[in-house]
Amino acid sequence: MLSLKSFIKNVELHNPHEPEFLQAVTEVAEDIIPYINDYHPEFESLKILERIAEPERVISFRVAWLDDKNEIQVNRGYRVQMNSAIGPYKGGLRFAPDVNLSILKFLAFEQVFKNSLTSLPIGGGKGGSDFDPKGKSDNEIMRFCQSFMTELYRHIGAETDVPAGDIGVGTREIGYLFGQYKRIQNNFTGVLTGKGAHWGGSYIRPEATGYGLLYFVECIYDFNNESLEGKVITISGAGNVAYYAAEKAISLGAKVITLSNSQGTIYDKEGFSLEKLAYVETLGRDLYKYPRKFKSATYHEGEKPWQFKCDIALPCATQNELDEADAKKLVKNGCKCVAEGANMPSTAEAIKVFHKAKVYFAPGKAANAGGVAVSGLEMSQNSIRQQWPSAKVDTRLKAIMENIHKTCVRYGKEENGYINYLKGANIGGFIKVANAMKAQGVL
Ligand code: NDP
Repeated sequence: MLSLKSFIKNVELHNPHEPEFLQAVTEVAEDIIPYINDYHPEFESLKILERIAEPERVISFRVAWLDDKNEIQVNRGYRVQMNSAIGPYKGGLRFAPDVNLSILKFLAFEQVFKNSLTSLPIGGGKGGSDFDPKGKSDNEIMRFCQSFMTELYRHIGAETDVPAGDIGVGTREIGYLFGQYKRIQNNFTGVLTGKGAHWGGSYIRPEATGYGLLYFVECIYDFNNESLEGKVITISGAGNVAYYAAEKAISLGAKVITLSNSQGTIYDKEGFSLEKLAYVETLGRDLYKYPRKFKSATYHEGEKPWQFKCDIALPCATQNELDEADAKKLVKNGCKCVAEGANMPSTAEAIKVFHKAKVYFAPGKAANAGGVAVSGLEMSQNSIRQQWPSAKVDTRLKAIMENIHKTCVRYGKEENGYINYLKGANIGGFIKVANAMKAQGVL
């Protein structure tokens, strides 16, 4: 019998000082170990879980570049190639000053399960750098991206490893990275996703994570014979995921009352309209200016959105942004559903509060899988040299999110009828990867 305690102890021993990675592995192991013991004892001697928790390859490299003052700057670049059992490594690149190996390993680990849940043939990886794009000029960003790709190119490829964007990496950065790859390899290929729609990208890719999140929340409400019409939603973040989550929520008739960033939160008691949302986009990071234009709103410097009463909370900013105290506030104020747009935004203690209160808790690996799903569709379009219309991609995205919901219900339904989406996503994502690893021998 596999023991959770000894498994975690071993992971801790092999990965000291990596709290985020340990948190992500523990969150999965808590559900998977009882499942293996009950249904797949053969996975124990095959050491499937031990192997899944060990990256196939970790690459770390120097990124030296010239800033606008002609001074040399040095950053560290990474690529974690976590698991390729069901397809080429796939996962975003994050550029942010707090990036380290623990964060990238946790993201790569989550990505393995998420990618498996999409039912597309993609393995899991993640990468990035401690480079901070904030306050950098366009030319500095370009020079950094070119230097970063000058090393990364030898480790990636359309059939090997296909990176995409994440925090700090959007269409602009993907453009510079792609351009440098093409220049070095003399090869126009689908090596990155999130490309511009007129140079190899897929329609709906920028919207996909936020839209997919709302499609998933719609499934939860449909399953309970309810609609999203009139539901009050709090959202954290004001980046790619938050923005398109808000846009889709509004178009589905819900009332979105908050957006935030690392400096503070806008609370608009009348809710954002699409016009208000477009105005937020023009503010960049200066969210504090919003109430000057819209009197229904207040700005809360240094505060998170979880104090405001809502039916649904959508954390869409970063890891561990919603802790136990936040979770208790949400539950006390009657929140019924928490769906993660970000990766691991809820702490382990917060998740316990949600489960205890029977709040529907949709983990990122299920609820935000829409982004990588459309990246997978971008890879398909690149392979066949076609570009599908928006409506076709959107329909495929919706179907994928519905399918992930079904998988979560299948593996996560408890005796009292409560759906434990975390358990459902963990087991549903694990089983396909584990069977592929078993079939491919000891690697
Ligand atoms: P962006 O860089 O576009 O936006 C990130 C947003 O989160 C910004 O508003 C940022 O504010 C805010 N934020 C970052 N750190 C903090 C913090 N410590 N406290 C409060 N707010 C913070 O990133 P994305 O929207 O692409 O990504 C957001 C999350 O979604 C990440 O966890 C990412 O891994 C996940 N994700 C993204 C996908 C995608 O397709 N883009 C796919 C699946 C998951 P500020 O500007 O002040 O830093």
